[in-house]
Amino acid sequence: MTITLRQSIKEKARQLGFILAGVTSCQPPEHYPVFESWLKKGLHGTMNYLAEERSRTRRADPKQILPECQSILVLAMPYSPLLRFSGNQDDATFRVASYALGDDYHEIIPPLLKKIVDFIEEQVGHSIPNRYYTDTGPTLERELAQRAGLGWIGKNSMLINPGTGSTFFLAEILLGIELEPDEVNITDHCGTCTRCITACPTQAILPDRTLDAHRCISYLTIELKGDIPPDLRSPIQDWIFGCDICQMVCPWNRFSAPADSALESNLQLTQGGISSSDLSISPVEFNQRFKRSPIKRAKRRGFLRNLAVAIGNKGNKNDLPLLEHAMHAEQEENVIREHARWAKEKIQGKNA
Ligand code: SF4
Ligand code: SF4
Repeated sequence: MTITLRQSIKEKARQLGFILAGVTSCQPPEHYPVFESWLKKGLHGTMNYLAEERSRTRRADPKQILPECQSILVLAMPYSPLLRFSGNQDDATFRVASYALGDDYHEIIPPLLKKIVDFIEEQVGHSIPNRYYTDTGPTLERELAQRAGLGWIGKNSMLINPGTGSTFFLAEILLGIELEPDEVNITDHCGTCTRCITACPTQAILPDRTLDAHRCISYLTIELKGDIPPDLRSPIQDWIFGCDICQMVCPWNRFSAPADSALESNLQLTQGGISSSDLSISPVEFNQRFKRSPIKRAKRRGFLRNLAVAIGNKGNKNDLPLLEHAMHAEQEENVIREHARWAKEKIQGKNA
């Protein structure tokens, strides 16, 4: 049996730790209008970069990113099993979304994508126009993944594979060579299930499989830079960076695949448990502790804002001195002071 180039590329991807790989064409994404309508309704919150003309044009057509594009290789890299849903739920620590408990995947995955490009170029004997991304590229990567046969977009808006659930990062490589697209055999398996919709504490999941970013805890704790709307602070519970709830309740995640050892060795827990005492972390300590973690994206201000809210939601009176200290010590940081004040009053029962 002849091994095709597509098969060899997938084998190489598997060796590098990607658990799913599929090929799709460079056709514009069919559901792009859903994204446009989501933007028009302002559901992207303050993520204005998504609505910029250049970003929209490129999302609407992969050839606007790479004019020579003929095929797109879409890949999935699992979170380490050690990290999945392992946010400690005991009384003393606070929860971080599983994907963010380890090293920053934005730094781990791109070098692996480069290795795949190198491999393809070696196989064909010449250089190939290419562009690769994980998460941050101007593509509708979940739709591309669905089109490449990796899974279906669930009601929680995650890409779900019937064999591995949704606990993986997606990545894509736009290629200036023609590879035969994969057949799409996976259909929507959500059926009548509505567990994610019911479990979402902020009612952020919309009927068209998109999210209202304004309400989603991931947005509120990572992307939003200013004050968290007061009515959404209590539903955030003890999440301080992202939220796993709509993945934790999804029945397909009982099939989450074991992570590849190549990635596990890179994606180690980088920050340990986060506790109330971290409310006094200095700028230098924050930078040192989170320099390899996605948490640095929230910056110290966002991290402490989120932690103050979560402390308020835990409601432990022993944390009152820490909140009072933050209200006085953070003179330059109104956002931190305001959320520490809210948390203090919540613990004291003034804004329950
Ligand atoms: S991540 Fe959390 S807040 Fe966002 S949609 Fe899922 S359950 Fe809701
Ligand atoms: S929880 Fe149910 S409805 Fe939500 S994504 Fe999973 S299968 Fe679909």
